[in-house]
Amino acid sequence: MTQALRILVIDDNPGDRALIIRQLQRQLADLQAQEIRDNSELLSAVAADQFDLVITDYQLHWSNGLEVLRTIKQHYPTCPVIMFTNTGSEEIAVEAMKSGLDDYVLKQPNSYIRLPATVRVVLERAEIQHRAALLEIRLQSLLNQLKVGVFRSNSGGDLLECNRSFLDLLRVDSLTQAQAILQPLLQESYLQLISLPPPQHQEREIQVRRADGTLIWTLLSTTLSMIENETVVDGLIEDIIARKQAEIERTQLNETLEQRVRERTIQLEQANSQLADTNQKLADANQDLEEFAYSISHDLREPLRAISGFSSILLTNPGEQFDAKRQDYLRRIVDSTQQADRLIEDLLSYSRLSRTDIPLQPINLSLLVPEILRQLEPELQQRQARVRIEEPLAEVMGNRTILTQVITNLVTNAIKFVPPEVKPQVRVWSEQQEKLIRLWVEDNGIGIAKEYHEQIFKVFNRLHSNEVYPGTGIGLAIVRKGVERMGGQVGVESELEKGSRFWIELPKTTD
Ligand code: ADP
Repeated sequence: MTQALRILVIDDNPGDRALIIRQLQRQLADLQAQEIRDNSELLSAVAADQFDLVITDYQLHWSNGLEVLRTIKQHYPTCPVIMFTNTGSEEIAVEAMKSGLDDYVLKQPNSYIRLPATVRVVLERAEIQHRAALLEIRLQSLLNQLKVGVFRSNSGGDLLECNRSFLDLLRVDSLTQAQAILQPLLQESYLQLISLPPPQHQEREIQVRRADGTLIWTLLSTTLSMIENETVVDGLIEDIIARKQAEIERTQLNETLEQRVRERTIQLEQANSQLADTNQKLADANQDLEEFAYSISHDLREPLRAISGFSSILLTNPGEQFDAKRQDYLRRIVDSTQQADRLIEDLLSYSRLSRTDIPLQPINLSLLVPEILRQLEPELQQRQARVRIEEPLAEVMGNRTILTQVITNLVTNAIKFVPPEVKPQVRVWSEQQEKLIRLWVEDNGIGIAKEYHEQIFKVFNRLHSNEVYPGTGIGLAIVRKGVERMGGQVGVESELEKGSRFWIELPKTTD
């Protein structure tokens, strides 16, 4: 429920007072009017503070309307006062308005009717002013709570207003002290803003020296605005020490990181060059070792040949007669020396593979394989072996000498590791692959158990005694090393007693 409107009616004339009250009651519902007839009634009403609006005549026998107005406004600055008189003048009206009068109505017979409307307008205006005042207070308190400095300055760089944080940021107590610090900066801001196109706005990170001499980093945001025909600068100033500090730390961290990366790179480069040195030394040492083995092997063959030669002479010379036992010893000496000689020769071939650079050239297998078979003709005939070549064989990139040795070793094994009662049957063919050629050598021999497929390609790995299948255990090692040095691979598919298929893969020729 809204409260009744309480009005003080101040007039010497009881008839006028009654008329005023009657007119108001006609149009304003719920009205409480209090008639004031002298100064004491006015003072007690003012003391009681139970009215919302005052209507006063100018000429009173105990005072005048201006005095009444001042008394009311002194105690209640926002309480609306209307002067309703026929004795006033223009000067009085102007004077009264200056003192805060809310409206001035000339008392004439027909103006009584207008009074309620005037009261309404005055009340509404007072209400609006009241709300505006409240808003102003709220705004000010918000501005003061803000952690950001808010200010307004004019074209001369003079500060017009600011909030609490603004003063705190500069460590001053008043606008004047703040002015002393910022005036040149504010004027400069104004000059910069007027030279900008709309919206005339600017953000700058600047250092400000505060009243206590300390220097801080701030973000200054300024905008040019028009307030009551005056161009002003509205601005925000924010302490960005924490952000700046973080930026500095980040830059330092980046620099440290970069420095560390540089140091690590140098260390890695040094380690790499040391590694390259070590590799070179190893390669040199390997080469020395190989050369040593090579020359030793050469030297060993001389005495071996001598032993073998002299033993053969003793065995075959009819002048020398030995009993059966000594003859057997001599035969064994001859066999052992021959075996040792084969071994040394194979080792020499093997070590030769790692000694030199290996030049590669296109080799037509259809020509090379038959040539190798011609060389092996005596062994083939002796074992009654049959070798079938499935023409055409492909062309590969390889080294003729090494490839000859590789294929020779494979074919020799294919006819060697066959049970004595079986006639060896060998099949040779080639297969085109994407970038490689695969050459197969298949036999009908004793086969190889799966667990030895890898092992047999290593030096001296033999699966049989020399008595059953003679050999040195180097043949397949030469095959693997030779093929690898030509950029290829080797392998075998085999099962015990079901024959073997050895394959070598070599690069295709580029035509
Ligand atoms: P070697 O022939 O001198 O014994 P290799 O290095 O040529 O030496 O072969 C190693 C071993 O692999 C042989 O002793 C044999 O046991 C096995 N082997 C090689 N080729 C065949 C084959 N075609 N069939 C069965 N076994 C084989």
